[in-house]
Amino acid sequence: MGGFNPIRIQSMTTIDTMDTLGSVEQTIRMVDAGCEYVRITAPSIKEAQNLAEIKKELKQRGYDVPLIADIHFTPNAAELAARLVEKVRVNPGNYADKKRFETIAYTDADYEAELERIRIKFTPLVKICKEYGTAMRIGTNHGSLSDRIMSRYGDTPLGMVESALEFLRICEDLHYYDIVLSMKASNPQVMIQAYRLLVQKLDEEGLQPYPLHLGVTEAGDGEDGRIKSAVGIGTLLEDGLGDTIRVSLTEEPEAEVPVAKALADRYAHRKGDPIPEMTHYPINPFSYNRRLSQEVKNIGGSNVPRVIADFTSREAITPASLFALGYQYAVALDKWNITDMACDYVWAGDQLIDFEIPGTLGIIYNYSTWRRQTNDSAFPMMEVKDYLENQRLSPSLNFIRVQLRDIDDRLVSKINQDNTVVLVIETNNGHGMAEQRRLFVELLNRDCHVPVIIHRTYDGLTADEFQLYSATDMGGLLIDGLGDGLLISAKGCSPDKKINETAFTILQATRTRISKTEYISCPSCGRTLFDLQETTAMIRSRTNHLKGIKIGIMGCIVNGPGEMADADYGYVGSGPGRITLYRGKEVVKRNVPSGQAVDELISLIREDGKWVELEIVNT
Ligand code: SF4
Repeated sequence: MGGFNPIRIQSMTTIDTMDTLGSVEQTIRMVDAGCEYVRITAPSIKEAQNLAEIKKELKQRGYDVPLIADIHFTPNAAELAARLVEKVRVNPGNYADKKRFETIAYTDADYEAELERIRIKFTPLVKICKEYGTAMRIGTNHGSLSDRIMSRYGDTPLGMVESALEFLRICEDLHYYDIVLSMKASNPQVMIQAYRLLVQKLDEEGLQPYPLHLGVTEAGDGEDGRIKSAVGIGTLLEDGLGDTIRVSLTEEPEAEVPVAKALADRYAHRKGDPIPEMTHYPINPFSYNRRLSQEVKNIGGSNVPRVIADFTSREAITPASLFALGYQYAVALDKWNITDMACDYVWAGDQLIDFEIPGTLGIIYNYSTWRRQTNDSAFPMMEVKDYLENQRLSPSLNFIRVQLRDIDDRLVSKINQDNTVVLVIETNNGHGMAEQRRLFVELLNRDCHVPVIIHRTYDGLTADEFQLYSATDMGGLLIDGLGDGLLISAKGCSPDKKINETAFTILQATRTRISKTEYISCPSCGRTLFDLQETTAMIRSRTNHLKGIKIGIMGCIVNGPGEMADADYGYVGSGPGRITLYRGKEVVKRNVPSGQAVDELISLIREDGKWVELEIVNT
């Protein structure tokens, strides 16, 4: 791992570690799917010991995949596992500390004494790893930072980085370097900032450039989990960071592997055109700041990013065509119903729309077609030369398609004085995200505040590749505050409905526009106390209309509450058939029988006045 090796793919078993054959068979399924390292939880000495049995059985079946013992809270299990398997993962938030959710005011002397306490507890493991040639991951989780780190640095990327560095410095003092680092969070924005900051701090402190293990924790399942993972992992891969990846989905671990491979393989042979160098980078990669843009109609300024659907290649556009874009026509009421994922504009190209459209929807025509019609809610999509040469423009909103090479003094000085322009930025570069980021740099350096729609075109991709690549390409820009809207052209890659949903899910994953409930569900492991996939699906089916609410669904009470991060409500396994419910970090109902727990969760949301009945808005 690391250096010039390919990006390695890994995942984690979900079977009880004491079930030797079950663990072996699941490991084999994961390896056969393409997994290169397999992590197995070792919550106590007995599971750590059983790793030897699992390893032996795997060897007998011809599998020598490196195994990683996953440790939380139990140094004795780590010290045993380090003698048996290739790598141990320690969580610096709980290796030497128990979480009490306390804020403690440390003097510098107290803090130093704490570090000394960690050193004493952690040193034996480092020495064993050195002696046995065992590797180690120091894996920080945003949701399980120690009270010490939280008290001094807060719940921040800097706190996450410092949490790992406390342990890393001890390793380097002991001349132990077989280390990989991770900075996982369920919020891709936090996770991206933490990894970037880690790299910066390693460099500043003169520490080794250790390999990075990338992952978004508790990403959830299905489309949401895949898109969230792609935004987090993909953005960092675009930055050139990352040596091994684990996609955490609330699904079977072998289902994670193709997603991880699709993300990694994209960089194996990618070719692109050179991007002009820059001397000044005006974007802070460690914190979120939305690029300042002026408001043009409902785009830019403080408006949520807009979604534009590409219908330019459709043969005909009818009212039914809009059903895929989040609009439904209620015949009895003669009204359009708008859902939370209704797109804002449709780019119709040269197809004239001759029926009454929903009041919230804008139509965009190609410039020559736009010139021939008089509809007030229609706007032109023009090339740069149309804009520079023609006098006839919409009085309120004009879209101009540009690439990086088009951004020059003449164009910028004209658009800077025009409060009707929105740029639609495009790229043909294999390194499209980097080129579009470069275009934003050009606009920032030229003090240009024109709103920008990010347009990407995909061709010849599978539906899964389309979802992951678009989430990387556009999510990577939105996460840095770049972009006032999305336009995705992906004819043949995915149906219109899926393309529209993908755009909204990317906005949700980057937390730039919330249109649905967010689920922070753990991927499950040998500690899990209920069927996570089934339970997540059941909770989702009853709550997925609660726009903006975050629900954590966690398999165990040992790590679950810590790892729910910023969930508003938590549904956590606390014993066989028992669930404990949380409001934020506070326990509100303990050990509810699992048959009643979803109803109790809904009552809790109702009590808080956050429950809404499922409804559709008419226009
Ligand atoms: S929260 Fe889920 S993945 Fe994490 S340790 Fe508990 S059961 Fe395993």
